[in-house]
Amino acid sequence: MSETPAISIRNLAKRYAAVGREPAKLALNDISFDVPEGKIFGLLGPNGAGKSTLINILAGLVKKTAGTAEVWGFDIDHDMRNAKRAIGIVPQEVVFDAFFTPFEVLENTAGLYGVPKSLRRSMDILRAVFLDDKAHAYARTLSGGMKRRLLIAKALVHAPPVLVLDEPTAGVDVELRRQLWELVREMNAQGVTIVLTTHYLEEAEELCDRIAIINHGELIANKPTRELVEMAREKIVVLTLDQDMIELPSHPAFRKCERIAERTIEITYDLDQANAGEVMALVQSHGLAIVDVSTREADLEDVFVSLTSKAGHAERIA
Ligand code: ADP
Repeated sequence: MSETPAISIRNLAKRYAAVGREPAKLALNDISFDVPEGKIFGLLGPNGAGKSTLINILAGLVKKTAGTAEVWGFDIDHDMRNAKRAIGIVPQEVVFDAFFTPFEVLENTAGLYGVPKSLRRSMDILRAVFLDDKAHAYARTLSGGMKRRLLIAKALVHAPPVLVLDEPTAGVDVELRRQLWELVREMNAQGVTIVLTTHYLEEAEELCDRIAIINHGELIANKPTRELVEMAREKIVVLTLDQDMIELPSHPAFRKCERIAERTIEITYDLDQANAGEVMALVQSHGLAIVDVSTREADLEDVFVSLTSKAGHAERIA
């Protein structure tokens, strides 16, 4: 592995100018991070956080206000041509001419990139995204899932070492989401560095080696996925009781205690300060019998909620 990161971003800022009644907007504020080569990197954040702005700057579609960005070692100010060649961007929206076939879509895209005919690999790419049997069907006859895969194929035409997927599974059903995850893993296994933006926490946790979180244009986390999830340091226990609990128990180790259904309470407690046995003993000391119990570890969603709920100037933990 080379020392140069696949993408390197330093002090990146973007201010959209005021238009009409819309005030100026600081969409990215002093963002710095690296995407290591060979990884699946997640850019996570709620809607409006600044994810698309960042991707569009890398794609050369939005002009940054300040800072620097390099793709595969090529500075986007000084060497945009090479930076663009090193990156494939899969947009959110499906836009094809319905009367072209997938094969033609790829050939046309290769033409736009100036890939000589002898170096084109349209059929190989279609095979890689499991669309080879549809190579000569009209794009309009493809299912939603096939169209998404064709979008990915299109971004692979110039064989970029870095592939960016903007919300690849927004609005797709569970089965298709799993298929697309498999495809992303497959491409990564073949050596492509992947960056994906998502607001689905489950997707980031499942797929990404490393996750950066942006909120209100600020980078508030940048860590290996496992470390990020471990930050929660809390556990959730759901107890079903033999009768309704009128007064909920309290304890310094409890971060949250809620009645989630009749005779059922959910307690989130600090792993460093208590264990499930102590939590149950406390409930029983109120004279209640526990008839059922389940526990779960806190997940990325819990961490995300606690990080992004720190209003305004979020604490930087990167
Ligand atoms: P995300 O992709 O995380 O949903 P965006 O990058 O689309 O976030 O948006 C970040 C912020 O910048 C939002 O407040 C959005 O309204 C604003 N914004 C995005 N594009 C423009 C634009 N072309 N002009 C003005 N403001 C914009």
